[in-house]
Amino acid sequence: GFTKVASEQILTQAAAADPWAFGVLRYFNPAGAHPSGLIGEDPSDIPNNLMPYIAKVASGALPHLNVFGNDYDTRDGTGERDYIHVCDLARGHVLSVQKLLSTDEGHVVNLGTGQAYSVLEMNTAYGKAAGRDLPYVIAPRRAGDVPTCLADVRKAKAVLGFETHFGLDDMCRSSWNWIETQARS
Ligand code: UDP
Repeated sequence: GFTKVASEQILTQAAAADPWAFGVLRYFNPAGAHPSGLIGEDPSDIPNNLMPYIAKVASGALPHLNVFGNDYDTRDGTGERDYIHVCDLARGHVLSVQKLLSTDEGHVVNLGTGQAYSVLEMNTAYGKAAGRDLPYVIAPRRAGDVPTCLADVRKAKAVLGFETHFGLDDMCRSSWNWIETQARS
């Protein structure tokens, strides 16, 4: 987080000294794959991020999800994040570049949905897409995790006209489709 803030400060100060327009797109939690099943994420190591980890449990490569803490002050006690479909995220980049090309003004915006889902909600939703309940165990909290993180999406809408088109089920379905497409090829 600090490195991201520092990067934004460097850009802001550089632009103050010698005006130029830049766009900062703050990614929340990218998830899912291209609906074609041709572009997706396939980490070769054990994934650190939630959705690729769940995908490996669904494919049988990992035995179960470790849920990092279920005693947070959240709806079900597990961590909540703002997951955004990678195709929505990609469209945010197009809108950002179009804006930079059509005006002299830069922008700093959040790219998220404004809606947070918990770890257990993610696991259940992915299980629905994969057609079976996915095993998990409750594990200790991961150091440095915050209970909830979600985007205030108002500025992205006002400045770029950005709105997301895809929801959690689309993220899970497209991710699972990508895994199955790879398994077939
Ligand atoms: N998480 C989890 N098990 C995992 C990976 C992640 O319970 O194997 C939880 C994590 O504690 C957080 C959420 O899932 O509450 C999202 O984690 P991720 O690393 O994907 O994103 P970040 O925490 O960087 O926003």
